[in-house]
Amino acid sequence: MIIDTHAHLSDEKFDTDKNVVIERAFNAGVKKIIEISCEPQYWDKALELSKRDNIFVAFGIHPNYAEKVSTEDYKKIEFFIQEKKCVAVGEIGLDYHYDFSEQTAVLQKELFSIQLKLASKFSKPVIVHSREANEDVVSIFKALKVIPKGVIHCFSGTPQQAKKFVDLGFLLGIDGPLTYKKSEALKQTVLEAELSSLLVETDCPYLSPQKYRGQRNEPSYVVETLKEIAAIKNIFFEEVSKSTTQNALELFNL
Ligand SMILES: [Zn+2]
Repeated sequence: MIIDTHAHLSDEKFDTDKNVVIERAFNAGVKKIIEISCEPQYWDKALELSKRDNIFVAFGIHPNYAEKVSTEDYKKIEFFIQEKKCVAVGEIGLDYHYDFSEQTAVLQKELFSIQLKLASKFSKPVIVHSREANEDVVSIFKALKVIPKGVIHCFSGTPQQAKKFVDLGFLLGIDGPLTYKKSEALKQTVLEAELSSLLVETDCPYLSPQKYRGQRNEPSYVVETLKEIAAIKNIFFEEVSKSTTQNALELFNL
């Protein structure tokens, strides 16, 4: 069994053929999918989707939403997090990729901290979005009394950066970009990482693996990332799928 631990099937790009996409995933061995819903306007849609068998959900507010978040959103998210099939809070974190002011950074950190508290209040793991912000994310975690369990979503850094997160108890979420030629640092990270530290995810409809580059990504393509990990580590596909699935089952309590 394979698990896509990070999908955005509520995205409009899946509106016309969602059933086919999900069936294709199940047929490819991807027997469970975690839908990530990190913009308030999609929460209802994702909740509806999570009522299907073998689809789970994470609710959160993405850092790029920090300037728009309302008190109403904060009230609502508490209820969504308590939903039966909500297995994590996410994706949450910091995103310094886009032009941003000092004020935006402050708002992102506040949004992140509030949601870390919610995760701890409801004993849920976190799915962390850290884009060009690894240092700040690490120091925010180090300042916490209790560091939550979780995954660094779409990890793309060096072995040294990976170690900082793994030492804090986090797993590394590995996505399609691992299959790109230029992802040398990430390949090295995967080579050095223990299998017990890795999760696989698609982040679909984004980040298609090399074989499908330029096309919409979907959960069944997570197989390509598993194949690449196996090739890099020179081990069998089954060993990689078994370990990463076990890691996902444990982290998200599936
Ligand atoms: Zn995502």
